[in-house]
Amino acid sequence: MDVPEPHYHAKFVFIVGGVMSGIGKGIVTVSAGRNFIERGFKVNVCKIDPYLNIDAGTMNPFEHGEVFVTDDGGELDVDFGHYTRFLQIDVKKTQNITTGQVYFEVISRERKGEYLGGTVQVIPHITDEIKRRIHEIDQETHADVLLIEIGGTVGDIESQPFLEAVRQIMRERPANETMLIMATYVPFPPHVSEPKTKPTQHAVRDLKAAGLNPSIIVARAEREIGKKAIEKIALFSGLNANAVFSLPDLNDVLEGPMFLDHQGFGDKLLEIFQETPKQSPTWESTTKLLDLINKQTETIVIGLTGKYTQLKDAYISVFEALKHAGMHEGAKVEVVYIDVEEFEKDPSAITKLQDLDGVLLPGGFGKRGVEGKIKVIEYCRENNIPFLGICLGFQLASVEFARNVCKLNGAHSTEMDPETRYPIVDLQPTQRGIKKLGGTMRLGAHDIDIYPNTLLWKLYGEKTKIRERHRHRYELNPAYTPILQDHGLVLSAKSEFYEALELPGHPFFLAVQFHPEFKSTPWNPSPPYQGLVRSALRIKLEKQEGVEAPVGTTAE
Ligand code: GLN
Repeated sequence: MDVPEPHYHAKFVFIVGGVMSGIGKGIVTVSAGRNFIERGFKVNVCKIDPYLNIDAGTMNPFEHGEVFVTDDGGELDVDFGHYTRFLQIDVKKTQNITTGQVYFEVISRERKGEYLGGTVQVIPHITDEIKRRIHEIDQETHADVLLIEIGGTVGDIESQPFLEAVRQIMRERPANETMLIMATYVPFPPHVSEPKTKPTQHAVRDLKAAGLNPSIIVARAEREIGKKAIEKIALFSGLNANAVFSLPDLNDVLEGPMFLDHQGFGDKLLEIFQETPKQSPTWESTTKLLDLINKQTETIVIGLTGKYTQLKDAYISVFEALKHAGMHEGAKVEVVYIDVEEFEKDPSAITKLQDLDGVLLPGGFGKRGVEGKIKVIEYCRENNIPFLGICLGFQLASVEFARNVCKLNGAHSTEMDPETRYPIVDLQPTQRGIKKLGGTMRLGAHDIDIYPNTLLWKLYGEKTKIRERHRHRYELNPAYTPILQDHGLVLSAKSEFYEALELPGHPFFLAVQFHPEFKSTPWNPSPPYQGLVRSALRIKLEKQEGVEAPVGTTAE
């Protein structure tokens, strides 16, 4: 049994949540991270999810938000998108610890007889395994500061072993090497005019019952909670008022880290660690982005065709990638959901798409809504509406083209119709025989060759080799690519599979098998998304000026 070595590389910032989930704990984690980065420290991140799933790969995006894919093929919790976008770090799948992984490991060891007849218990065996994993992440990431966010809310039954592991680590290490930030929620009930700190008091009590004291409290609220509430929270949690911060809803999440720093957040972080800044914070890279947002004079409307329309988190990386593209193209991107099933019931409703500046068809699984999605693609193709398809969007764009242009009636993906006469999209050969769903798709980053003089090649700055992330089981069937190409479809990229298609003569019609949104950051927008936004904006402006939209494969 590996007991963690006493030596740790990074100082640890634990982040826990009080009162309830969904209050923006991730923003607090990112804010702490950016404050360290601004001061010249290297940060990385670990997220603990107290659920029993081994990873987020098999979880319904409607319930839990999107599955975030890493280069190494991890299917991680949605929060990793926030971390990697705002902290500009690369993460490995091992950085997402779940209860499922920890118990799986301990029980496997028990079955191998590694506990030598001992009774296997939550303390010390589960807690030791949690500590071992944190220690391993620390050794691998080699950062100055490791941010460790504990999912869920203090007081949850599920988080108890993790809080106990945190307690032990904080006890074992010197006081200036660890800290604990508690993110809480302070409501402003509509019938009273003041913020209510009682839920935070209860949350702090729960934390103390677990043997932990907060080093810092960040109070999330609709508005600023004010000095009186800050002092009250400080009093009952045993903190100085300068360790309690107010984080209200802001115009843009990008403002959060800087907003907190103006209250002395960054200095407090360093004071606790007894560190001096390696550089003075300027917040230049953030203010540059905020300037870009302020300069957005136009708004474009992009339609998103999706099943999980009730939960923004289900497509959060796609939303963010569109936003990043908009920041760099001078246009605010408004995303509206398109209910594709409506077009299955009433095909004439499809003309609604005319009101959109562009359409994005994101990844997805299963049969529901697929015929509606195919109608959307057909309409965009025939009516010169800028279109970007991602993963399933790529596969269905191939199906649509096969059906309506190549006249292969009944063409389909075998995912939706295993008996189709024309299996345009089919299971990858390596997927045959796979029965287990967890972690078995084609996942993670793969090298892709882009063919020169294509739209994709122009978008990627004339690069012929790129690396993007994947998450799929099906592929464009190579048996059918000649017929698609003979009818004018351009296949513009390939790995061991076809990776992109485009349509010359259309203002912007691109679909990719990969998921470029996972690598988009506010500082580095993703080229396919930028292409969609640029074309949508250009066509909108041309329409406004009464000029006919030009056709061509360029995205300038
Ligand atoms: N369902 C398709 C496949 O498995 C597409 C997956 C996706 O869009 N992420 O290949």
